[in-house]
Amino acid sequence: MHSDRLLLGPGPSNPYPEAMEALSRPVLGHLDPEFLTLVADTAQRLRTVFGTRNRLTLPVSGTGSAGMEACLASLLEPDDLAIVGVNGYFGERLCEVARRLGAQVRAVHAPWGRPLDPEQLLDAQRQAPQARLVAVVHAETSTGVRNQIAPLRELQNTDTLLLVDTVTSLGGIPVEVDAWGVDACYSATQKCLGAPSGIAPVTLSERAVQRIRDRERPVCSFYLDLSLLDAYYQGDPARYHHTASSTLISSVHAGLGRLLAEGLPAVWERHARVGERLQAALPELGFELFAEQGHRLPQLTAARLPDGVVDAAGRKALREDFGIEVGGGLGPLAGTGWRIGLMGHNAQTRPLTTLLAAITS
Ligand SMILES: *Cc1c(COP(=O)(O)O)cnc(C)c1O
Repeated sequence: MHSDRLLLGPGPSNPYPEAMEALSRPVLGHLDPEFLTLVADTAQRLRTVFGTRNRLTLPVSGTGSAGMEACLASLLEPDDLAIVGVNGYFGERLCEVARRLGAQVRAVHAPWGRPLDPEQLLDAQRQAPQARLVAVVHAETSTGVRNQIAPLRELQNTDTLLLVDTVTSLGGIPVEVDAWGVDACYSATQKCLGAPSGIAPVTLSERAVQRIRDRERPVCSFYLDLSLLDAYYQGDPARYHHTASSTLISSVHAGLGRLLAEGLPAVWERHARVGERLQAALPELGFELFAEQGHRLPQLTAARLPDGVVDAAGRKALREDFGIEVGGGLGPLAGTGWRIGLMGHNAQTRPLTTLLAAITS
């Protein structure tokens, strides 16, 4: 038996008890009608959380990275132009994945710790209207910055699709896929959704589905081809594509059930409240918040360490003496800062006060 950790890093977070309990249910075959009903019901819950009526809404097998690769691989062909907002590690990852698919990438930068300027992204698209998509990370987990998505709705008036990474935002802060004109959106289950890792929720608008139909070449990945996954889960009859895990999908279904029973506004409010309290407390303990004020995520806080605290030794002490995990820094915060998550089931007073007590003792 391994240790029971309080997971307060950038993910995974501790799942809801309902999501853990569901892991012990009997396994179903990947084409069992009961399994397909479970998938359909999970997709319906995901539509509510994403704020969408998109027909193509699926739990993709794999972690958030699989969602990223499924969207980019399905929507881009070699030599297509992709405009990518970059103000942290995950924006850079989007560029890297798009390049590996053979796409041309035009990055629109903002410094780490500051939000992207939506006007600059729209300008880049005006200068290159042939761009196939604009990709943006909603919640930059490397810095704790929230990027604005709603102003990018204007892309609906162009032939350029809007792709948004909501891995750390979904279930933590409002996400409105339809109202914001998002064409492709992926997330992960182990951050604010309160389930274990292993599933990437994905949703595509009708014009994104049409983009896949209009491709000249097949999607370069068989496993992550969203049109094949659509035919598997929603085809009539369902067609074997891979052996999806009923265990993980049951768990996600149960976690989403808990979240929706509480209600999205209440869940957002819970994240906002504990995040604000953490961000008020850290500067008093000598930490310096990294993300620019007014653009901070409540669910993920990046902060420079106080003088005298050594990164690796401090995290080792939290882990070994208190059973608490926090994340190390990335980029400019590597070795000098921490990333603290209060996500999903952990967006509550007790994990917050437990962490603050451990830091001060
Ligand atoms: C965690 C994360 C990912 C990658 O998800 P994995 O589940 O680790 O594969 C992608 N984007 C963002 C913003 C993330 O925080």
